[in-house]
Amino acid sequence: MSALTTELPLPREADQAVRAVAKVVVMAPMAEALDYLIPDTLYLMRGNHVLVPLGHARVRGLVVGFDTRTDESLKLKPVLQKLDDPPVPDAALDFWLWAAAWTLTPPGVFLNGCLRALRVAKGQVRQGYVATGTAPHRMTKARARVIETAVLPMGLSDLAMAAAVSTGVVTALEKEGVLEKVDLPAADDYRAPDPDYAPANLNPGQAAAHILLRNEAAKMGFAPVLLDGVTGSGKTEVYLESVADILRERPDAQVLILLPEIALTQAVLGRLKARFGVEVAQWHANISNGSRRRIWEGVAAGRIRLVVGARSALFLPFPKLGLIVIDEEHDSSYKQEEGVRYHARDLAVFRARQNGAMVIMASATPSLETLTNAEKGRYAWIRLGERHGTAQLPDIALIDMKAHPPDKGYWLSDPLVGEILETLQRREQVMLFLNRRGYAPLVLCKACGEKLSAPNTDSWLVEHRSTGRLVCHLTGFSMKKPAACPHCGAKDGLTSIGPGVERILEEVEHRFPGVRAEVFSSDTAPDAATSASLIRRIEDGEVDIVIATQAAAKGHNFPNLTLVGIVDADLGLKGGDLRAAERTFQLLAQATGRAGRKVKPGRAIIQTYSPEHPVMQALMHQDREAFYAYESMSREIAKFPPFGRLGAVILQGRDPAQLNRFAHELTLQIPNSPGIDVYGPADAPLALVRGQWRKRFLVRADRNRDLQGFLSHWLSAVKRPSAIRQIVDIDPYNFL
Ligand code: ADP
Repeated sequence: MSALTTELPLPREADQAVRAVAKVVVMAPMAEALDYLIPDTLYLMRGNHVLVPLGHARVRGLVVGFDTRTDESLKLKPVLQKLDDPPVPDAALDFWLWAAAWTLTPPGVFLNGCLRALRVAKGQVRQGYVATGTAPHRMTKARARVIETAVLPMGLSDLAMAAAVSTGVVTALEKEGVLEKVDLPAADDYRAPDPDYAPANLNPGQAAAHILLRNEAAKMGFAPVLLDGVTGSGKTEVYLESVADILRERPDAQVLILLPEIALTQAVLGRLKARFGVEVAQWHANISNGSRRRIWEGVAAGRIRLVVGARSALFLPFPKLGLIVIDEEHDSSYKQEEGVRYHARDLAVFRARQNGAMVIMASATPSLETLTNAEKGRYAWIRLGERHGTAQLPDIALIDMKAHPPDKGYWLSDPLVGEILETLQRREQVMLFLNRRGYAPLVLCKACGEKLSAPNTDSWLVEHRSTGRLVCHLTGFSMKKPAACPHCGAKDGLTSIGPGVERILEEVEHRFPGVRAEVFSSDTAPDAATSASLIRRIEDGEVDIVIATQAAAKGHNFPNLTLVGIVDADLGLKGGDLRAAERTFQLLAQATGRAGRKVKPGRAIIQTYSPEHPVMQALMHQDREAFYAYESMSREIAKFPPFGRLGAVILQGRDPAQLNRFAHELTLQIPNSPGIDVYGPADAPLALVRGQWRKRFLVRADRNRDLQGFLSHWLSAVKRPSAIRQIVDIDPYNFL
């Protein structure tokens, strides 16, 4: 990286000789930056956007460094033009280049992703809605909330979210003339957050944690911290005070709060607004192009000091990051599995180190990686003991499903049904948790045994009764459920095997007539607005039983929810990937933690066929340490992460013979390197996806070995046919 780091700009005259050649990363899959001559008419700085010739084309590029003039350099092609996009700050550029190398991604491909926000049209006028004063024909609670909220003009999704209604309610009110469409003022910036707007009144345990965090911040350098506390102990409350400290005490420092996408709800945004008195800039998949560009530019210029976002917010061009918070740091949604594969938590820690910043990782169930770092003293470890106020941790019981098998076609055991009845009689709410969307995970033909799957794909079709369709959750393929078996033509042979949340809903409605039950999954709450409206209805007591996938397992506090039932606790343990047990523990600990979050005591019931499993025992005894000790020991023996490093290489191609040949050639070229083992090639568990065959290698390296160096050396040894795609996944989470 030393060749790419920048000095301060030199005076112009001295400059000309030194900076005669620009090193430019072009937006194309090239392995390295290319050299271009800088014409005398141009003055370029590192981070400038330029147009350069590449073959017969003109392509965009980013200046990442300079070189002196030599006789050779006079033969170089010149930079064609300097573009007026805002320059990328050094700190961000250094990070992007490092992250490209870390993920073995060509720098141009990586930078192009980071710069996507600049590709949208500038200055689009956005329209919004404002109340006209006309009363609606029919008033509902939802409509009243919209009308109260729309005193000032707001964009469609913002308004729907703030009022916790679906966008349909807003557009219907416009049709009735209750709202009208107006141009939104060009709000070109987010107002500065006020660190003293509404400071928290911390309880003694929280105040002590806050002081420890202040001590870490006072180091004024890289300071990684694990903020470890049970759900509801007030981790959010405490880290927001650290955010306030940095904003107050270091006037040019910026702060990034990372959340799992799923947790970016109105509830969290509302808390930020209540704490800092302004709308905080938010960055995630569903923001408009206009906001995207505005935030990108505001962050690059240092004007926007606080951003809350999902994993990709880490690549915003912060010039001066002072603090990164990673909330729910163990959450697997920090791992990006498409396109460039990276883990936002690991990269965030690097970003903080590079910038001498503080990084707070908050969790009730830390990842084994982070916990090990804390145990070894590499991270500060700050613990919050109890739930805030009078809220108690729920009492947790295991139900051995071998002893209490439900009747055929049912999934809830008698003891759980009994608990549900009692809870309903007390007029309290129940959450039944099953991390499986749809009605049934498999449709099977009784006549011929065919398991219906997507075309050219090794993954079963999931039945969704609410839409009458069969859906492939892997590829997105869907079809109407056929009347006869597509394989043998038998009529009435198709049976649904196993439960999804829709099937549990059916059982609940059958067992408890008249109960108000709803499914909370990414199907019933696909966006922030519908999810906010569902949450509001649950809070208002309009729902008795919530049947939830992980979409609802975290982040929400439902005061009247006192019973959580885990329908199939063993589900996540199947498949046996490296983190199956850890993930199951984290997810179930989160889910059971939903009960009794406020004043009323909560209870959680876990249905399992393997009550003796360490995950189940740890959950029941609420003995996290026992589980981690067991998990840590088994990984240490195998020298798997965090006691070793892993990388996966996935090869895909339409022609299985060609794929096998190439995999074989690669095998022959595996370098002999002590401390590094290569396993494979094996057929990937999903060996056929969308007509593409897939093979995998798994590479395990001791902690002190250069895994990336090994991979790039090995993979460049064999020329890859263009019909074969190669994906490198550093620290894979998904073993499909
Ligand atoms: P965590 O992030 O650890 O799950 P939260 O910060 O979300 O915990 O706190 C849980 C609940 O308790 C929230 O509703 C929060 O507002 C409330 N709470 C926590 N600490 C305090 C406090 N000191 N004063 C008032 N309310 C608090």
